[in-house]
Formats: sequence, structure tokens, C-alpha cells
Amino acid sequence: MNETFKADLHCHSNLSDGTCSPKELLDLAKSIGLSGLAITDHDTVEAYSSILPYANEIGVQLISGVEFSATFRSKSVHILGYAFSLKNEALLDFCKQHQERRKLRNLAILQRLKSNGIAISYEELLDIAEQSSAHNKTIGRPHIALALLKKGVVETIQEAFRHYIGEGKVCYVQGNEFSIEETINVIHNAHGYAVVAHPHLLKGERFIKELLNKKFDGLEGYYCLQSPAQNARWIKEGLSRNWLITGGSDFHGSIKPQISLGCSTVGKELFDKLYSRFKENI
Ligand code: AMP
Ligand code: ZN
Ligand code: FE
Ligand code: FE
Repeated sequence: MNETFKADLHCHSNLSDGTCSPKELLDLAKSIGLSGLAITDHDTVEAYSSILPYANEIGVQLISGVEFSATFRSKSVHILGYAFSLKNEALLDFCKQHQERRKLRNLAILQRLKSNGIAISYEELLDIAEQSSAHNKTIGRPHIALALLKKGVVETIQEAFRHYIGEGKVCYVQGNEFSIEETINVIHNAHGYAVVAHPHLLKGERFIKELLNKKFDGLEGYYCLQSPAQNARWIKEGLSRNWLITGGSDFHGSIKPQISLGCSTVGKELFDKLYSRFKENI
């Protein structure tokens, strides 16, 4: 039984920029034979508001998860939080602060688009986000990409990122993100683990060395967009620091159809460690 245990620790629901509801994610996890799951929405834990009893009912072990954007040396770094208490007020308040910073950033991106002759109002953006979920908490660049698609400015989501809103492109705005230390502290104070997401996206040896000196607990060593050689490189970095080696798909549903739930997973040993911490925090 143990050898078939698989858990996906990285996916997004429609409470952020995924297209499946939390319940649909659990049903999908069950149908493909996953035993464990963490829903790691960007900057919100709303997916967990009513889903734990359902996870129990269908027999998928669910642990708390979140993906926070942070800035280090002017670059964006994604940090996954796991197994923290879902009742921690400071973490819930941190999510609220992220929603405020996102609103300002989205307005700034729309302003840049306007300067480039593309008019999308904030109300239009809210409408598009609402179409993907009436309860959407986190509105981000994928929703702006959808707006560009809807307006006929681009033909694909990828093109929106490539031409306009990808990091460093003409309408990209980083906004006021929080620091790595602040983010790790929030996760630690909520008794969770802080993990570096998709490390293959980090560039520059010096940058990486300095980043990995921060007080993380793990890194995402299994990620299906990383080649096996890249996975091996990051697993080695993590093991040399005695860190947790996590893994997940970064599934977003139909907005990123090339990625399926469960394309990267972890086994029972790692999952049990996170699950027992989560149980202590319930
Ligand atoms: P944001 O949190 O608003 O900065 O948006 C980040 C999200 O945009 C990521 O988590 C991905 O879901 C998506 N994203 C980033 N780059 C691309 C890309 N080149 N193509 C498609 N989606 C992307
Ligand atoms: Zn996303
Ligand atoms: Fe990410
Ligand atoms: Fe993600």
C-alpha cells in the first residue's frame, strides 16, 4: 500500500488563478489515485474554509498550503507554506495585505497597458475574475491575460505573458511585494514549513546562494517542468542543508492545460511529516 502513496503538494484552485473549485480538485485527486493534497493558492487560504470535512469523507488527506510571492534583490520569489494553522490571525492578516498590494499592482499593470494603447478597466478585470469564480480572492496576471485574450489583443495566454505582462516585459509591474524574511516569519509563527517553490526559475549563482541562506525549511525538488537533471540538482542542494524535499505539479486547470494534477508528487514519508504537523495545528 505504502509504495502507491502519492501526494501532490502544489496546485491552485479558483480562489486564486486556477480554474477548478477546491472540491473539484479533491475529486480529481481522488480519481487519479492521489492519497494526499495541498492546495497552494496565491496569497489566500480561502480554499480551506469548508473543504476539510469533504476531504475526510472521500479519503484524501489534505494539509494546509499557500504560495506567497516575495521579493529578494528586486526579483520575485515564490514561497510555499505548508501545514500551518489555518486559524493563525497573523497569517490571515498577511493574506489580506497581499490582496491590497495586488489591487494596487493590478491597477498599475492596467495603467501600463493603457499607455500602450490597450484599455481594460478595473471593473472589466473584476468581471473576468468573477467569471472564473464568484468567490475569487486573488486576482493576478493570469486574469489580466484572460482579459487580453477576450479583447482579441492576444491569441493565447502565453502570448499575453510573452508580449506584455511576463517578468521584464513592457507592461510588467512587480509592485510592493513583501520580503523573504517577513514571509518566512509569518509561516513559522503559524507553525508551518516555508519552502522555496519551483527553484529552477531562480537565476544567478550568487543570487541563489544568498537566497538559500535564508531560514527556509525545504525546497521543491520534484516539479514536472524541471528536467530530471534539474530536479537532481535541487534535491542535492536541499539535502545538503537537511531540508524537506517537496514536490507538486503547480496544476492550474484549463488555464494551463499542459500541466496535469499529479505530474509531480511526494511519497508517504515526507507527506506524513507534514500531515502530523498539520494535525497538531488543527
Ligand atoms: P501573479 O501572481 O499575478 O504575479 O501571477 C503569477 C502567475 O502567473 C503564476 O503563478 C502563473 O500561474 C502565471 N504565469 C506566470 N508566467 C506565465 C507564463 N509565461 N505563461 C502562463 N502563465 C504564467
Ligand atoms: Zn498561479
Ligand atoms: Fe509559483
Ligand atoms: Fe504555483
